[in-house]
Amino acid sequence: MKSHDLIIVGAGLSGMRAALEGVRAKIDVAIVTKIHPLRSHSCAAQGGINAAIDPRDSWESHAFDTVKGSDYIGDEDAIRIMCEEAPKVVLEMDRMGTPFSRQETGTIAQRAFGGANFDRTCYSADRTGQVLLHTLWEQLVKSGVKVYEECQIFKVVTDKEKHAVGVVAYDIKTGDVFPIRGKAVLICTGGYGRVYVSSTNATSCTGDGMALSMRAGAALGDMEFVQFHPTGLRTSGILVTEGARGEGGILINANGERFMGKYAPSKLELASRDVVSRAEQTEILEGRGRDGAIFLDLRHLGAQKILERLPQIRELAIDLEGVDPINDPIPVRPTLHYSMGGIRTDKYGESKVKGLWSAGEAACVSVHGANRLGGNSLLDTIVFGKVTGKQVSEYVAKEKSLRDFPESAVKEVKDTIADLMGRPDKGLRPSDLLKRMATEMNLYIGVFREPKTMQKVLDQFPGFREDYKRIHLDDKSTTFNVDLLRAIELRNLIDLGECITRGAIAREESRGAHSRVDFPKRDDAKWRKHTLANWNEDKGEVVLSYEPVRTLGIKEYEPKERVY
Ligand SMILES: Cc1cc2nc3c(=O)[nH]c(=O)nc-3n(C[C@H](O)[C@H](O)[C@H](O)COP(=O)(O)OP(=O)(O)OC[C@H]3O[C@@H](n4cnc5c(N)ncnc54)[C@H](O)[C@@H]3O)c2cc1C
Repeated sequence: MKSHDLIIVGAGLSGMRAALEGVRAKIDVAIVTKIHPLRSHSCAAQGGINAAIDPRDSWESHAFDTVKGSDYIGDEDAIRIMCEEAPKVVLEMDRMGTPFSRQETGTIAQRAFGGANFDRTCYSADRTGQVLLHTLWEQLVKSGVKVYEECQIFKVVTDKEKHAVGVVAYDIKTGDVFPIRGKAVLICTGGYGRVYVSSTNATSCTGDGMALSMRAGAALGDMEFVQFHPTGLRTSGILVTEGARGEGGILINANGERFMGKYAPSKLELASRDVVSRAEQTEILEGRGRDGAIFLDLRHLGAQKILERLPQIRELAIDLEGVDPINDPIPVRPTLHYSMGGIRTDKYGESKVKGLWSAGEAACVSVHGANRLGGNSLLDTIVFGKVTGKQVSEYVAKEKSLRDFPESAVKEVKDTIADLMGRPDKGLRPSDLLKRMATEMNLYIGVFREPKTMQKVLDQFPGFREDYKRIHLDDKSTTFNVDLLRAIELRNLIDLGECITRGAIAREESRGAHSRVDFPKRDDAKWRKHTLANWNEDKGEVVLSYEPVRTLGIKEYEPKERVY
């Protein structure tokens, strides 16, 4: 059986940064990834990464902005770790060769991002994720880390003592199913954007690691907090970076009026994302949008600035909306972007399942609470890739031997595949079922949430699960059978959709990205706590529990009204 000290699932920024710590600790580390590492969704990140590297700024100020941005539900210990580490990890990436954009003086350029009191977002034009990913990949190639490329995990495996002992992987190239045994498993599988029909996320963002970890006994934290980015392109949902507003872009409605003054008089377009998304949605609902969109206006920036700082955005607008931002405003709307929730961990990334760890968007450490600040996710991946990678490496170094791996886990996966492959050629297509669920999620578990319509969505989940038993595959081959992969991913997406919906119905307040029309105010007395979603095998559904926020008793972090 293939065995390693540490199995990292996911080769995005968090997985690769964690692997580097494993290499440094001289443990045997392997990465499993369903797509080529350089295609990991981190490569789509455009706008930048936050770090207080300017002497006029401070990590404490960054931490304050993050606590406030989280709407006072982020864990303060983890937030302080992230913000204090930020300058160190960004300067380390710079030394490794990341080609950051520069100021005239030669120092790393920084731009304004929403919810921040200082222009602290370091960037490389509008392709920051891509350059960071390439830099880490170079380091890993150099170190010779074992990478199981185009291998998708179908199961996180635990033993009788509920201790994580490895994964069952499916080789997409050959159709082989094989176990990988490890002293610890670190889940870095990114977000679940495909739960929603309109998303800035790639098709690979199916939250596999979250759902499989929940089935293995981990809790998922704060799943109801789903970030809608204010500027997804109207038609495709593809992202226009917040950096476009950071460079001076403004939002206008169909009447040509700049409207953010009504909603966030001081920060305007650079208020935090939940605030801007709600403002846009209100304009659209009150009839001041056009075709379900409002507009991002960059014209006043001038051709030179747009070509220099936002070249990719210009191309996307031309190719996908048919407008050149040098001459015309871009139609945009709030679009699913980021998952604040994920595998619930302590401040070092360890879940409640012994031997199971998580970092990056798959995890809920929780540094983003109810609303993530732009530029803080890339930072989360690099900081907690490093911190968790170091902690888990120390953990496996102390584990003397590998534990037994139950062979039944491999059989279970093989049986699932055989069942899907063996179904009659008639029935439901996985994509049709997904579209039905994801459309409901978009319509009713979106920017504004109403109890009745949310309940209607929740009531459909038993039906979604029944329908899942009727899906059929057109492709029965063993090589690059995307049909099979989509079917496996669909079960994960249904699990996650249920977690989000249940959490949203239960949370009777408005906080950060969770906005209830019937409970418009934040309720700290009752709801300043984390939601935990747990899989109940007997009921065949998700059940909720709660735990307190990790606070530090710092006066500055006490909850206040959040105004921008
Ligand atoms: C369009 C866009 C722009 C963004 N811009 C910014 C920005 O400017 N600043 C910022 O801070 N944040 C930004 N974000 C958010 C940020 O990019 C992501 O949150 C972050 O990069 C996620 O990194 P990750 O390492 O957690 O996961 P990912 O980079 O998504 O990697 C996931 C990895 O897991 C693997 N995987 C998944 N499932 C399986 C499985 N079952 N088996 C094996 N492997 C699996 C994949 O192959 C992949 O390698 C942006 C997000 C989007 C969508």
